[in-house]
Amino acid sequence: MSSALLNSNNIKAQALRLGFVACGLAKAEPVDENFARRYQHWLDLDYCGEMDYMRRNVEMRLRPDLLVPGVKTIVSLAMNFMPEKPQPAISLYAQGKDYHEVMKQRMQELMQACELEGRCFVDTAPVLERYWAWKSGIGIVTQSGLISVPGYGPTVFLGELFLTSEADHYDAPLPHSMPEEIGWTKVCPALTPEGLDARLCISYQTIEHRGPLPEELELKRTFYGCDRCLRATPQFAESQPTTEQAFQPSEALQKMTAEDWEGLTEEQYRTLFKGSAVKRAKFDGLKRNIERWLKPHNKK
Ligand code: SF4
Repeated sequence: MSSALLNSNNIKAQALRLGFVACGLAKAEPVDENFARRYQHWLDLDYCGEMDYMRRNVEMRLRPDLLVPGVKTIVSLAMNFMPEKPQPAISLYAQGKDYHEVMKQRMQELMQACELEGRCFVDTAPVLERYWAWKSGIGIVTQSGLISVPGYGPTVFLGELFLTSEADHYDAPLPHSMPEEIGWTKVCPALTPEGLDARLCISYQTIEHRGPLPEELELKRTFYGCDRCLRATPQFAESQPTTEQAFQPSEALQKMTAEDWEGLTEEQYRTLFKGSAVKRAKFDGLKRNIERWLKPHNKK
């Protein structure tokens, strides 16, 4: 471990140069008690559904030093993913290339540019990414539990650097940025007063869930993911198109119509979604979703 303090201004300047829209630093301390209690309560309610990984490594999620021994600083980063001309049937975040790859590569470039020691994570390790984004002051927590970055809204991907040096400056959460309770929105079937019940979440059902969809599930706008909470969040008005080409849909994807989706072949699926996060649902899962999306009651 290097004993020199990290230069926070340099890290932020390099992050902006590399295309991140926000960057903040937080001390790598255990997660605040209140937040940890709420997280444990959410797990106790079984709201994480089949996402068993949420139940694993709980201690590690709450104590960053268990994930990366010697970690002193957590850098939170956000990238704008708002596509310019989205394909309307696919969730906004999944229009272009898989963000895991894009973000990770950019974060590695940042580590090299600033000669940082540690590890980078994008949604693949036991890290409470929204908590750290809040803690490092890069965004506010909206009533639907999303992180919204001022000037860019909630259409952002998050990533974290776990670094083994102290920084010369740490950021504070933005004022009044963590609602005590996640609020209800009329558009969401999964928000309860106690948090998000992933088992009722359309995004979860259409991406993570294997097997038949629940009979009562209506897919209206999208058949992969769900942007209802995103669009209903007042801060969505701040979203603006990203300049990142990697997050734009291809022309072929953008032009797909309901008839095209109905006749989607496996070969088309492979071409349309090469390098895309949509592959997570697999061809069979996507066909299952499209069938439900095309049902007449979904067109109301
Ligand atoms: S993705 Fe859809 S169903 Fe899931 S929390 Fe958001 S609005 Fe609710």
